[in-house]
Amino acid sequence: MALIYDLSGKTAVITGSNSGIGLGIAQQLAQAGADIVLNSFTDTDDDHALADKLAKETGVQVRYIQADMSKGDQCRRLIADAGVCDILINNAGIQHVAAIPDFPTDKWDAIIAINLSSAFHTTAIALPMMRKAGWGRVINIASAHGLTASPYKSAYIAAKHGIIGLTKTTALETAEEPITANAICPGYVLTPIVEKQIPDTMKEYNMTREEVIQNVMLKRQPSKEFATVDQMGGTAAFLCSAAADQITGTTISVDGGWTAL
Ligand code: NAD
Repeated sequence: MALIYDLSGKTAVITGSNSGIGLGIAQQLAQAGADIVLNSFTDTDDDHALADKLAKETGVQVRYIQADMSKGDQCRRLIADAGVCDILINNAGIQHVAAIPDFPTDKWDAIIAINLSSAFHTTAIALPMMRKAGWGRVINIASAHGLTASPYKSAYIAAKHGIIGLTKTTALETAEEPITANAICPGYVLTPIVEKQIPDTMKEYNMTREEVIQNVMLKRQPSKEFATVDQMGGTAAFLCSAAADQITGTTISVDGGWTAL
């Protein structure tokens, strides 16, 4: 996907970006010229090789910083270690599928910590950096499940509704400054997080894999197509552009019409 945006001179920190949507956003922002900080909770040769590969492909600086987004102090350390954070993409997320009476408490706590509280901690450290730089973008990766609900995803839906609230408050606290805060709300994108929930959903609904994809996932998506990681990256790049200077405190759905239903 060719982009027209110029983000050279900016640094983007993207939480949970060694796969899926985070990596797709990193690729698009790097192609637009931004230096990139990749992150996940692991610290493997593959993680660092991913950073080297993206740097070689795009010519920007790419670093990989390990930090566990389930831990508030590590969220804060990620941004501090990055040293500069013009663009903050709060993307790290996990999922668990179970009915409320069977929903394990440790899964509830982990989902709220990674999918919601991490964004509070990273934003708290990033905003003073953005103020110092005189420009900033906070982009929270919410979900169609931040605007509407489905059964068996209580923690995820609570976290995603919560991060949209945090986005609005961030926007109001920065409204008179050259800083914006918005949430992207993807519909279904075929990434590892979606792959992992197919077996549980098959069990909950007693369906085959194909039935889950067609009758549960894409049933809610009127386009009948998965959205793509490139489309998420392109939307993030647009939100970083001058055209989006007055777009703040809102959500952009990239969901094939799901939330129009
Ligand atoms: P993914 O599983 O490919 O990516 C999740 C990323 O988060 C990975 O890089 C993983 O390493 C990282 N991560 C997980 N736990 C972490 C932790 N404790 N610390 C740091 N990093 C951690 O899934 P994805 O689909 O790319 O999801 C990315 C975001 O997009 C999530 O917030 C997800 O809720 C959201 N989203 C995805 C979809 C979809 O259909 N795929 C739809 C709506 C929203």
